[in-house]
Amino acid sequence: MRASGRHISDHDLDRYYLGMIREERELAVLEEHLLACSDCVARAQQTEDLVDELRVALSSIDDLQCEPAFRKAPRLRAVGSA
Ligand SMILES: [Zn+2]
Repeated sequence: MRASGRHISDHDLDRYYLGMIREERELAVLEEHLLACSDCVARAQQTEDLVDELRVALSSIDDLQCEPAFRKAPRLRAVGSA
């Protein structure tokens, strides 16, 4: 059996780690390639680090946007009932 010779694209690695690849067949192809190809595993690990950084960055943005909203709601209610 011959490998297709095509490496996984950065885009597909991103999608893989972001959980955006839902098709079992596509997942199986990627995972099979990662098992056989150390080049792509190395790139996958870099992608994983990047995705983790993105998640941290995104979650801190979420916190900034959500916190004032959460604080505003009870304050408004308190003002209304006072
Ligand atoms: Zn590869």
